[in-house]
Amino acid sequence: MPTGMLLRSLLVSTISSNRFLLIPTLSFLSFLSKPGRSFLLNVDRNPILHAILRKGFYDQFCAGESERETKACVQRFKDLGFRGFILTYAKETLFDHYAKAMEKKNQDGVAQGVAAVEVKDAFDQDVENWKKGTLATGSMVGEGDILAIKLTGAGIGVSTALAAREELPKRMKDALNEILESCANRNVRVIIDAESQYFQKGIDDVAIEMMSKFNRNGTAVIYNTYQAYLKNTTNNILGHMERASKEGFTLGLKLVRGAYILSETRSLIHDTKEDTDNAYNAISQSALRQELGEFGSKAAGARPFPSLNLLLATHNRASVIAAQRLHFQRTVDGLPTVPVAYAQLHGMSDEVSFSLLQEKKPEDDGPEVYKCSTWGTLGECLAYLLRRAVENRDAVLRTKDEHRAVKAECWRRFKGVFTA
Ligand SMILES: Cc1cc2nc3c(=O)[nH]c(=O)nc-3n(C[C@H](O)[C@H](O)[C@H](O)COP(=O)(O)OP(=O)(O)OC[C@H]3O[C@@H](n4cnc5c(N)ncnc54)[C@H](O)[C@@H]3O)c2cc1C
Repeated sequence: MPTGMLLRSLLVSTISSNRFLLIPTLSFLSFLSKPGRSFLLNVDRNPILHAILRKGFYDQFCAGESERETKACVQRFKDLGFRGFILTYAKETLFDHYAKAMEKKNQDGVAQGVAAVEVKDAFDQDVENWKKGTLATGSMVGEGDILAIKLTGAGIGVSTALAAREELPKRMKDALNEILESCANRNVRVIIDAESQYFQKGIDDVAIEMMSKFNRNGTAVIYNTYQAYLKNTTNNILGHMERASKEGFTLGLKLVRGAYILSETRSLIHDTKEDTDNAYNAISQSALRQELGEFGSKAAGARPFPSLNLLLATHNRASVIAAQRLHFQRTVDGLPTVPVAYAQLHGMSDEVSFSLLQEKKPEDDGPEVYKCSTWGTLGECLAYLLRRAVENRDAVLRTKDEHRAVKAECWRRFKGVFTA
């Protein structure tokens, strides 16, 4: 890791691992992210505030404010040994407040949905903006990279349809097809992010339809995201494997633990962190063994394991190292397994990403490791930066471990200067 990057990691991990520094930082970021700030507190207009936040935080977690900066960042990571980059557009998260308000309305028993006229007026422009931003994001990554999309980012009309599990409006279907076709033609894969359960069944329907259309040549162009913290995820995956088997497409399985624990109905989620960890490892390792439920089992009447590509998106060191070692051993032993790749967020758990890269053996190409980042102006990325800070606050143990590892590396390099 270059020294500049290491020093920024030291600054961020020092703040993240110390609640007396992190809490005021969180409050400050939250304050700045509110719309309508004056010139002095506007991060895109005040050059001094912009420079401080840019160097201290933005560059740690985000790819760039322009196409040129983003492409340069993608290249920097590839030069460090990463197989590719997963890119998202920060503006997609700007609808988060709306998605949350929709869920809340539903929980409070207030009439669902929004007046038809209101939906129609806002809808066309929302989808157009989403399509434009997503196509621009897709054009910043190249062959072998991945575009990540968030369907509720397409706004009010689309979110309403997803929540009701209705067919997507035609304008959105056309936009989605145009984006996916343009990516598939350039060998750029696409991930559909998982969101709260309020929208997720609708998102699954869209993902299955798109995987069935695009994942046709024994490989996944489109990945759906599955959240291991949900008690019904294994069943959901088995249902999607059934569809993949019947319809002859490759299931793109991106596995995460799940990011909506604070807002989701708690009873849907495993009772303890340990249960979520066990579920995550059981799903990933069963897929790597090609044995999940009745698929690939040795029992009489078992069904053949369908074509499946796995993407393990996690910062959990134990999960990724165990998966990679199992995959390597099965490949060496000539046993059946599935293609697997790994992803961590830009600026988070670099130690996990680099440990994975070090799993490379002389006789193979090494694990496929991706960094996932977002691009957009500093103002557009503030909500994303705030979310990363909250995630660090909630992952106390991990951030303390990371801080220790970054400090040790800084100290090693510092001593190296004097002993060289
Ligand atoms: C590249 C990438 C893409 C991602 N995309 C998505 C996405 O599309 N949708 C999405 O929802 N998330 C997504 N995430 C976030 C992910 O779901 C996790 O919130 C985050 O990565 C932390 O989990 P972990 O596996 O990295 O690490 P860990 O620190 O080992 O696990 C933390 C996670 O464990 C679970 N957990 C914590 N406490 C409990 C408890 N008491 N009971 C039950 N479970 C508990 C929660 O899911 C929590 O986030 C993504 C993450 C990455 C790295």
